[in-house]
Amino acid sequence: MTTKVVLATHNPHKVSEFQQIVALTRPDLEVIGYDGPEPVEDGVSFAENALIKARAAAAHTGLAAFADDSGICVDVLGGSPGIFSAYWAGQKKDAAANLELLLDQLADIADPHRAAQFISTIALVTPEGAEHTVAGVWPGRLATAPAGGHGFGYDPIFIPDGQTAGDERTAAELSDEEKQSQSHRARAFEAFVPLLKTL
Ligand code: IMP
Repeated sequence: MTTKVVLATHNPHKVSEFQQIVALTRPDLEVIGYDGPEPVEDGVSFAENALIKARAAAAHTGLAAFADDSGICVDVLGGSPGIFSAYWAGQKKDAAANLELLLDQLADIADPHRAAQFISTIALVTPEGAEHTVAGVWPGRLATAPAGGHGFGYDPIFIPDGQTAGDERTAAELSDEEKQSQSHRARAFEAFVPLLKTL
């Protein structure tokens, strides 16, 4: 018998990513998408926003539900764009404009001070009301110009730590497999797996 767990997102790409992860560890769990009402994400942290989405889906479906919330945090900007990553350049949520604005803001900042992290937080809410959150962090720094055509969002200006000096690629220059094996989302998934045991 399978137990259903709802992923609180309308993004089919995220549903399929999570289905693959869960299938590896808990084949008895069936991850299903969510088509109920979307709550206002008025939290002030990734965890609060992930919980808001997971709570809404759990309440609407009566099933255990989980959600993720993510973004890029730049040290010299005190952790911004953070929860505002998707609409840093305005509510139109234009990824190219977001990236351009961020580069512009850091135009005079030298390489040693361009540290940044991608962060992903996953929240799980059970029908009984138990709530858990886990996070994954991908450290790196910002490039001075975009490079690479893979990925999305801020990938073309994010250089992950841990690459060979002199051969440093942005996240958009990594293959999908390379990105998915080390990204903030992969790291959050890893921390999330033990939570599935609570279902
Ligand atoms: P959400 O979690 O899908 O709402 O993502 C929030 C925003 O953070 C996205 O719109 C992107 O701007 C940024 N972001 C999150 N994860 C990534 C990533 O893996 N690459 C590039 N940008 C990301």
